[in-house]
Amino acid sequence: MELIELPGVGPKSLKLLNKLNIYTINDLLNYYPFRYEIIKLNDINEMNDGDKVCVEGIIEKIPTLIRLKGNMNKMSFRIETNNTLVNVVIFNRGFMKKHFEIGKTILIIGKWDNKKNTIVASDFRFEKIDGTKIESVYRTTNGLPRKNLSNYIEEAIKLNINELEDYIPNYLIEKYNFMDKETAVKLVHNPSDINDIKQAQIRLKYEELFTFMLKINCLKLKNQNNNIGLKRDIDNTMLTEFIKSIPFELTIDQIKAVNDIKTDMIEPRRMNRLLQGDVGSGKTIVSIIACYINYLSGYQSAFMAPTEILARQHYDNIKSLFNGLNIKIELLTGSTPKKEKKEIYKKLNNNEIDLIIGTHALIQDEVEYNNLGLVITDEQHRFGVNQRSNLRNKGTMPDILYMSATPIPRTYALTIYGDMDISSIKTRPTGRKDIITKVKTNKEIIDVLKSIKIELDNNHQVYVIAPLIEESEKSDMENVIKLKEKFIKAFPNRNIEILHGKMTPIEKEEIMNSFSKNETNILISTTVIEVGVDVKNATVITIFDADRFGLSTLHQLRGRVGRNDLQSYCFLISDKSKERLQILEHSNDGFEISEQDFKLRGQGDLFGVKQSGDMSFKIANIKDDFKILMQAKQDSLEFLNSNLIDTLDTNGHIKKIIENIGNLN
Ligand code: ADP
Ligand code: MG
Repeated sequence: MELIELPGVGPKSLKLLNKLNIYTINDLLNYYPFRYEIIKLNDINEMNDGDKVCVEGIIEKIPTLIRLKGNMNKMSFRIETNNTLVNVVIFNRGFMKKHFEIGKTILIIGKWDNKKNTIVASDFRFEKIDGTKIESVYRTTNGLPRKNLSNYIEEAIKLNINELEDYIPNYLIEKYNFMDKETAVKLVHNPSDINDIKQAQIRLKYEELFTFMLKINCLKLKNQNNNIGLKRDIDNTMLTEFIKSIPFELTIDQIKAVNDIKTDMIEPRRMNRLLQGDVGSGKTIVSIIACYINYLSGYQSAFMAPTEILARQHYDNIKSLFNGLNIKIELLTGSTPKKEKKEIYKKLNNNEIDLIIGTHALIQDEVEYNNLGLVITDEQHRFGVNQRSNLRNKGTMPDILYMSATPIPRTYALTIYGDMDISSIKTRPTGRKDIITKVKTNKEIIDVLKSIKIELDNNHQVYVIAPLIEESEKSDMENVIKLKEKFIKAFPNRNIEILHGKMTPIEKEEIMNSFSKNETNILISTTVIEVGVDVKNATVITIFDADRFGLSTLHQLRGRVGRNDLQSYCFLISDKSKERLQILEHSNDGFEISEQDFKLRGQGDLFGVKQSGDMSFKIANIKDDFKILMQAKQDSLEFLNSNLIDTLDTNGHIKKIIENIGNLN
């Protein structure tokens, strides 16, 4: 059954549900409460002034409705609860007045004002409860009331619950005494007590982590079993020549990473390596050297970036580094014109391209390589596990290099990236100064503008990250436009441009080009700028609404500056969460910051604002549920090694997962 057929769901609510990443009834069932409200009845006679109270009473007098300024209104009435008469006021629910009848039972939640003998209600229901009740609270989006979302979920539970696929094999369900999937899903949405929540959650978390680890371990085993790599002969003199031609000295960690990669590539086993390093640590050059090694041994390379901006940047950068060498390089993205695309496909197939740089477009089915030897993915955390295996499908057995600036603590990295070898770049290139970071309130903006002016006068450039807003309120675009007007007032003689998600790739490219050529002095952007962008002459980044971001994301954004030996600055504008933000004033170390973020918010923001790729768990949290994760890791390995998969996987669901991963190899 389609989501749109569910009672109450229409085209408009369907769109809103899609916004929450809910596309099917199954998605709806797997859309779990983010918290629970425990409603427990109080006796008003025992409450103190200012207490949050929840009482059940009988309406004793019909409300009087008073209109207030600005479309506001106030209802006042009286209820009897525990033999006491108390007043109740409710704001802005005037439209509900006709439902308030004398003698009707009502549940009031609100704040108790003892002097005035009044409850100021924050919520009310016309229902009776038995002492306590637990309500599921769902994250929703503007325009979709919580109540409606809960109703849809309730409808879905009524309808579809039997079709849920259970991914935990029976013997493990027995081992842990788990409840069945159907019960767990029902209870997680409609628990009758705390124990229900715990039991249901643990089961669903385990299932999620078990399937995740199963995929990881599956990849790992495939790599071990199917580990015959390409034979390569490379001319070491040429490699050394190339490394010498790079306009800077490699750092020790970069050299080490290059050696790891070279060894992997030359030895007759397949490389499957993650190159981890903080923002600005210089991962790109390492991967470019890998491309050169691959070129020297006569194979094609594919270099994949998560955004068009980044792909273009890598393309320009690589072109200039390979200048004078006879390497044929092309760029392929979603916005490459169809005709050109076809041409590129043909050339790839005929081995007329040595290195192709692009976005997801590189792994579309139409793309056939002639002799793909190396695949590189930049900002790996943006891609999911399934895409990891998708890439491998493209060549007979290309070497794979993943890059990620996501600094996750080592224990987690080893588990989550358990199918890969890891090289780390720990130190930034020498001569780099720490970025001076200051948290400022909106009132102190003048200080920020002064600092910006000094930098502009020195012919340096500035990024401004616009405040985040709820999507449905206004568009990001309006927001950056407004900010641009303000900056024009402050800096009337400067070139100021904007960048936002609604622009076409070509528009974005023009804006970025003019910024990297220093034709634009100030770039006002939404977080589309977030990853990887490299403009060395930019020395200030100002981030509005900084408190709305996790520390790791802010660190990534901050990494847009400080990309050479100029002193750079980062201003975090916020009127709240000062203490949390101050962590960034004191640390320039992504690993340390991520540890702090991890402590403060769990995995929450670890992977940036847009949750995507590997870590978009629906219920599990790799930090809080680390024990379950480790158990799931062990269990999934035992399961895969058992040679009894057919017997143990009673309903065949797990085999589907394995086949999905396996077939792509
Ligand atoms: P990231 O690891 O964040 O992807 P990049 O690879 O973009 O970082 O490198 C950041 C900047 O540092 C780039 O401008 C790059 O040219 C420069 N860079 C990289 N390695 C060195 C080095 N060893 N010495 C000086 N500059 C370097
Ligand atoms: Mg990068």
